[in-house]
Amino acid sequence: MSHHLGDEDQPQPIPRELYSEYEERPFRTCTRCGEGLADFQGGFQISKAFKNGECVFEYALCDHCRMAMMEEFSQESKQRLGNFQHDHMILDRGLDTCAVCGTSRLDKPMRDYVMTGVCDQNNLLHSLLMCGKCGEDVQELISKPTRDVWRGFVDENFPGPPSDALPEPEETNHPVTPLMAKA
Ligand SMILES: [Zn+2]
Ligand SMILES: [Zn+2]
Repeated sequence: MSHHLGDEDQPQPIPRELYSEYEERPFRTCTRCGEGLADFQGGFQISKAFKNGECVFEYALCDHCRMAMMEEFSQESKQRLGNFQHDHMILDRGLDTCAVCGTSRLDKPMRDYVMTGVCDQNNLLHSLLMCGKCGEDVQELISKPTRDVWRGFVDENFPGPPSDALPEPEETNHPVTPLMAKA
């Protein structure tokens, strides 16, 4: 994971919006392997999916697990996701504006969206938002085998998760592409 912190950039603490809703505090462990996140070398990723304004799914993935899952994704899917991110996403808009279409979460207000943060220890390095509409577009890029990899992760870690709003992990070294997986 590459951290592009300029000299003048002060790391900011992980905001409340990226806390675990379930635990009502910052994420402490990796959802997949249970490793503690606070001192994990390489950082971690948080994603939270909202439906009708409520958080319906959330996870934190240590960088080791994120990479391990990405390796199982098909080359085709990774290529498409990388291209989409490169061509259509602006990665420094933060948590209030969709990284793809630029819609504000606060104006409407937005009901369905995914928030993602790339973190290191207690600091937020990058964050982004993707609205439900753009998430559906991204979903179209993903192959069936890759969707199955993702479903395996969900099935192992979340008994009875909501089937229609599952943010997937990021594909490259860049800030995270939150994805909406359909059932
Ligand atoms: Zn892990
Ligand atoms: Zn959008």
